[in-house]
Amino acid sequence: AALAGCGSSDKLIMGTNAAFPPFEYTTSQGLVGEFDGIDVAIANKIAENVGKELQIEDMEFDGLVASVSTGKVDMVVAGMTATDERKQSVDFSDPYYVASQVIVVAPDNTDITSAEDLKNDKTVGVVLGYTGDNIVTNDLQLAEDKVTRANRGIDIVQDVKNGKLDAVVIDSATGKALAEKNGLKIVEDPQAFETEEYAIAVKKGNTELLDKINETLSEMKASGEIEQLAMEYDEK
Ligand code: GLN
Repeated sequence: AALAGCGSSDKLIMGTNAAFPPFEYTTSQGLVGEFDGIDVAIANKIAENVGKELQIEDMEFDGLVASVSTGKVDMVVAGMTATDERKQSVDFSDPYYVASQVIVVAPDNTDITSAEDLKNDKTVGVVLGYTGDNIVTNDLQLAEDKVTRANRGIDIVQDVKNGKLDAVVIDSATGKALAEKNGLKIVEDPQAFETEEYAIAVKKGNTELLDKINETLSEMKASGEIEQLAMEYDEK
């Protein structure tokens, strides 16, 4: 029987922003079409469990919560932190990954060694609507003209590389992957940046799909599969 909690009959539609390696990115030969990453692998298992084919909708991160709450997509799998603010609009699964924010700087940068240093007139990039945006805007309260907000993590890190920005605040695993790729450096500040839990979002009240998601996640956690995926994709 078709799962009532899903919009279309034979497809499970995942919304994501595929500019967030190692969780979701595009590549010539991905797991699902051009899409690959830890989240894509997890979503594939969920689709299997639900008995549907996974379909991926790539969109701006900032629009994901609205897309799932209006039913345009069935679930959001996007390295999304389960924040209290988002919980007002969507329901979240159990957490599947713990992250924190990091600061990406040029390899020769010596004057940014903590989040506090960003307040010294530094130009800082974030991705619009990410938790990193929230931190520089609300916690650090950086001046508006010092903050650049981009739509894609991949793009904003380029601006540190070409010297347009002093730093980018972004999630740990993604920051590390992008820093490595671009010859940049990571600054960690566990004191300033609290840990965040990634979870999968569904439309409020869609318990049927949420139960299936939690069932899949708990199986994948128990078997060590999620940890293994994290290690595997870290090396890609
Ligand atoms: N974890 C961050 C957030 O939820 C970034 C997620 C992402 O870019 N995919 O805001």
